Amino acid sequence: MQKWICTVCRHIYDPDEGDPVNDVPPATSFEELLEEWRCPVCEAGRNLFEPYPDPKQRLEEG
Ligand SMILES: [Zn+2]
Repeated sequence: MQKWICTVCRHIYDPDEGDPVNDVPPATSFEELLEEWRCPVCEAGRNLFEPYPDPKQRLEEG
């Protein structure tokens, strides 16, 4: 499934693992997260996440 990365703290949301901090069970896609879901690390909103890996960033990572 598609992973998403927090643009604030670079935490990666992995749908295969879910989010134990926020009681999100494994196999929960990013789209299925609640509106009020927040990054478990920095509490950034969902709108601050972007798909990972981002093709644009891959170039920088080499
Ligand atoms: Zn974050």
